[in-house]
Amino acid sequence: MSHAVVIAGGGPTGLMLAAELALARVDVAIVERRVDQEVPGSRAGGLHARTIEVLDQRGIADRFLAEGQIAQVAAFAMVPLDISDFPTRHNYGLALWQERIERILAAWVGELGVPILRGREVTGIAQDETGVDVALSDGGSLRAQYLVGCDGGRSLVRKQAGIDFPGWDPSISYLIAEVEMAEEPAWGLRRDRLGTYALGKLDGGKRARVVLREERVEQGDEPTLRELRAALVALYGTDYGLRSASWISRFTDMARQAASYRHRRVLLAGDAAHVHSPMGGQGLNVGVQDAVNLGWKLAQVVAGTSPESLLDTYHAERHPVAARVLRNTMAQTALSRGDERMDAVRETMSELLRLDEPRKRYAGMMSGLDIHYDLGSGHPLLGRRVPDLDLVTERGPQRLFTLLHEARPVLLDLGARAALDITPWVDRVRRIDARYDGVWELPVLGAVTAPAAVLIRPDGHVAWVGEGDDRGLADALTTWLGPPVA
Ligand SMILES: Cc1cc2nc3c(=O)[nH]c(=O)nc-3n(C[C@H](O)[C@H](O)[C@H](O)COP(=O)(O)OP(=O)(O)OC[C@H]3O[C@@H](n4cnc5c(N)ncnc54)[C@H](O)[C@@H]3O)c2cc1C
Repeated sequence: MSHAVVIAGGGPTGLMLAAELALARVDVAIVERRVDQEVPGSRAGGLHARTIEVLDQRGIADRFLAEGQIAQVAAFAMVPLDISDFPTRHNYGLALWQERIERILAAWVGELGVPILRGREVTGIAQDETGVDVALSDGGSLRAQYLVGCDGGRSLVRKQAGIDFPGWDPSISYLIAEVEMAEEPAWGLRRDRLGTYALGKLDGGKRARVVLREERVEQGDEPTLRELRAALVALYGTDYGLRSASWISRFTDMARQAASYRHRRVLLAGDAAHVHSPMGGQGLNVGVQDAVNLGWKLAQVVAGTSPESLLDTYHAERHPVAARVLRNTMAQTALSRGDERMDAVRETMSELLRLDEPRKRYAGMMSGLDIHYDLGSGHPLLGRRVPDLDLVTERGPQRLFTLLHEARPVLLDLGARAALDITPWVDRVRRIDARYDGVWELPVLGAVTAPAAVLIRPDGHVAWVGEGDDRGLADALTTWLGPPVA
């Protein structure tokens, strides 16, 4: 069986990528080890503002908002960062467990008709000049023009493609579990020289969610009730009559990143490309946004409208984003230690983050709203996310994000006096004439000069800004949509 693209792994990243490719009418299939979308243990607890925006760009944010709890979730080293004054429709985060997020994404992928080969693993890959052979655990195989490894931190695809995964070994490990105890424990957060740990109430205190640091760094996959009991006794001097655990898992602060996000016809996204501590709740968010950066580029290469070199912009744009996440999680892990000197650093940091400018900068980073791809110098909008403006179009009032639902590029002409000639690309870009009389305001940066026109990529980032003429437009169209058709 052959497909244009095969995705190994149907977690949040693989599902989002599949949907992006399906929107672009690419023949794509997912191979997923799990038989259903159940997420064992506990993983992500929600979405940051930019991820909600990205889902809004595809018209599906409401599905998530309907099931989660809106809250101010951005924080750095546990210092809350309020983004309610940020110029975005979604000036908040969303508390929603990963399993719910995955189920909503999987339902959308189902509507888009993407086949998911469940209960099967990718066991081997071999690439040649024209494609990749993908061996499966059921003895079958698939052929694809491109293979994307969205198969998590231990990615087999990454290893078999020979892509290095440099970084830092863990300095601390944690057990996380949902438990029943006979006695009332000491609820709340504690900190000691090695790290921060906590006991939180569930069901009004009948059960507890525990996050316990371990004395030594452990890496085993399936921690036991005995290990959990030992960790409780080591930290609290008692196990509080620990009776049972509905699940127990372990995580560490290991921080590693793929040296390259692409090796010929094999690409990596999400945890397969980067792993780090869960501090700040960023991993799932970065993975979903990797997928939205890669999807339309891969679709254009598969369609033959753009050269393969477009795929290199995926690494160039997304590698620095995850590198910054690794750095900020390492800083937050250090700040979670509780010796007196580190307490002083944390207090200093917390004082700084209460000042307006640092708060905005860090909130922009943690929420993902400040992401800026380096597309050269020029107007501040260049390389940044386009705001969801209330436009007036020929069809009446329309939110800008609704123009991106089909994941196609948009040339938004806001009254540029010069004629914008896009004839050679007319089948590849949607042209919209609109009016917008309000202020253009970006998170962190504030108000910027109103452009006369903008070229918006399918991922919502601005690829070209017109300031009254069409200078640079043909170059931008060639770079991002492929060479002109004669
Ligand atoms: C305790 C904890 C808390 C976290 N909290 C947050 C948070 O609040 N916010 C946040 O954004 N992130 C958080 N994360 C991180 C988040 O869970 C991950 O970043 C996210 O799951 C990555 O998604 P992914 O799709 O890239 O990888 P995964 O979710 O790991 O999905 C990979 C998929 O590939 C499948 N697979 C693996 N190997 C193969 C194979 N060979 N063949 C076929 N299928 C395969 C797996 O079954 C899985 O479905 C947390 C993580 C932990 C551990």
